[in-house]
Amino acid sequence: MTFSPVNWSSRFAAAIMTPQPLVLALVCCLAFRTARTEYTAEFDSHAVYADNATDVNRACAELCTVLESTFASTVALRNTTAFKANQNSYWSQFQAEVSPQCFIQPATAEEVAAIVVEAATRDCPFAVRSGGHAAYVGGSNIPDGLTIDLTLLNELTVSEDRETTRIGPGNMWINVYQKLTPMGLSVVGGRVANIGVGGLTLGGGISWYVGRRGWACDGVRNYELVTADGEILQVNLASYPDLYWALRGGGNNFGIVTRFDLETFEQGPMWGGAVFNSIEHNATLLDALVDFTSKASEDIDAFTWVALVYVQPQESWFASTEMVSAKPEPNPAIFKDLAAVAALQSSLRATDIADLALEMKESNPNGLRQNWWTLTFKNNAEILKIAHKIHAEEVEAIKDVAGLVAPMVAQPITLDVIRLFSKNGGNPLGMKEEDGPLQLLNIASMWADSSRDEEVMAAHSRMIDRMVAAAKELGVYHPYIYQNYAANEQDVFAGYGEENRARLREISRKFDPEQVFQRLQPGYFKL
Ligand SMILES: Cc1cc2nc3c(=O)[nH]c(=O)nc-3n(C[C@H](O)[C@H](O)[C@H](O)COP(=O)(O)OP(=O)(O)OC[C@H]3O[C@@H](n4cnc5c(N)ncnc54)[C@H](O)[C@@H]3O)c2cc1C
Repeated sequence: MTFSPVNWSSRFAAAIMTPQPLVLALVCCLAFRTARTEYTAEFDSHAVYADNATDVNRACAELCTVLESTFASTVALRNTTAFKANQNSYWSQFQAEVSPQCFIQPATAEEVAAIVVEAATRDCPFAVRSGGHAAYVGGSNIPDGLTIDLTLLNELTVSEDRETTRIGPGNMWINVYQKLTPMGLSVVGGRVANIGVGGLTLGGGISWYVGRRGWACDGVRNYELVTADGEILQVNLASYPDLYWALRGGGNNFGIVTRFDLETFEQGPMWGGAVFNSIEHNATLLDALVDFTSKASEDIDAFTWVALVYVQPQESWFASTEMVSAKPEPNPAIFKDLAAVAALQSSLRATDIADLALEMKESNPNGLRQNWWTLTFKNNAEILKIAHKIHAEEVEAIKDVAGLVAPMVAQPITLDVIRLFSKNGGNPLGMKEEDGPLQLLNIASMWADSSRDEEVMAAHSRMIDRMVAAAKELGVYHPYIYQNYAANEQDVFAGYGEENRARLREISRKFDPEQVFQRLQPGYFKL
């Protein structure tokens, strides 16, 4: 999709002003953590591997040449049309501006294994890309290194008994939903059409189906995993229970997943969509969200979020609520208070998961600068209102930045979801039943003017510090940091708790004794 601030903002304006369906898909994300021992990766601008930049460049350039002779058709070298196309396919402009030595698109797990072994042998840093929606430099594209693009690993096969679907990480969620929906089936996956199966599932994975089914990571029955020494493992509860546990939220730290086998279930028509409200209703909406969260067990097929958004091209604030039910009956009672708030526009309708995912894609174009952060609070309306006040104050300082769209999105982590975390041996996310229910905050801005990058990022960093301080003062802070929404400055695995982090490190050393995925894949969140 081509982007210009003008066409995007007019789409937003149209969305607010007319009855066409649309949404603010504003959810989620993550980042890239710098700083492994060998590399002082200044990925915030353009990467420099401080002491051995020349060696690294040379090693990776040589590796690309070798790979090209083996995998000619799927290696894109610098200064080629294919290379440019690869760069342009990233969602965040920060990642699109990164130049690896080459991109490679392996077509089988065996090819992935060969590439990993070769990169490790030559000490060439690499990044791995599924849907390319990490917001930050280094997340899934690496300056001067090797970028392994999993696009061609696009298997999509439903088992004969219809209980499992084998999904390659080259798929986006829309591919999955467009295949399964006509079959009356579904899986727990992302809410926006073009998000990758890989990143979302490895970081957790919040879906419209959470209340009944948990997060995407809890619905994985088996991972096909390429390890650092090039083995291809089938990782499930029976075969490698420790690695299986680690992969359910452990991100890119344990290997490259070349196939996810996801639990599959019968799913018929749904109901839902987006509602836009005037910002003056912010307190009512936040109260209603907290109330929904407290009584979510009354309707585990329903899920929602509330977003409060500044839109620079309109010079205005708006509120937006997404309400979705996995059942076809319209207007579930649990949404009563949210739905009672006067709507400027609504796309609530009979729908299905593919239709919803396509609707949400419209407001998430490629080509913008992106900055994502996250926080977790106890389910408390006061802190959400304070967070909105802080958000509004800090956005005030940057509100003239061209193309700025600055949402604060709050969504529940309900008690049912936390209980489901213990399914199939549990996950390392670190949330316990006694912690919940919780509110997950996603502060995710996009803008067009690169000359204002530092200001925008500083404003966000300040607002997070202030929100953390306010939550601690109120006694409603929770340390969980959602990997898929986190900023590179955030220490995701500290939020999982020291015990879980220690166990993750131990599992990493067991399956990756040379620590290839920690040293040579510096981007994103490391253990
Ligand atoms: C518009 C938008 C909507 C979103 N909606 C949701 C949502 O509904 N629910 C939700 O939970 N999150 C959501 N997110 C957050 C999303 O889950 C993360 O951004 C996620 O990392 C994207 O995955 P990806 O594969 O597209 O990204 P990528 O940038 O390709 O990958 C992200 C990270 O995962 C690693 N990785 C990917 N695949 C593999 C693999 N197969 N093996 C090993 N490592 C791998 C990459 O190396 C990278 O570090 C959304 C994000 C955006 C931008």
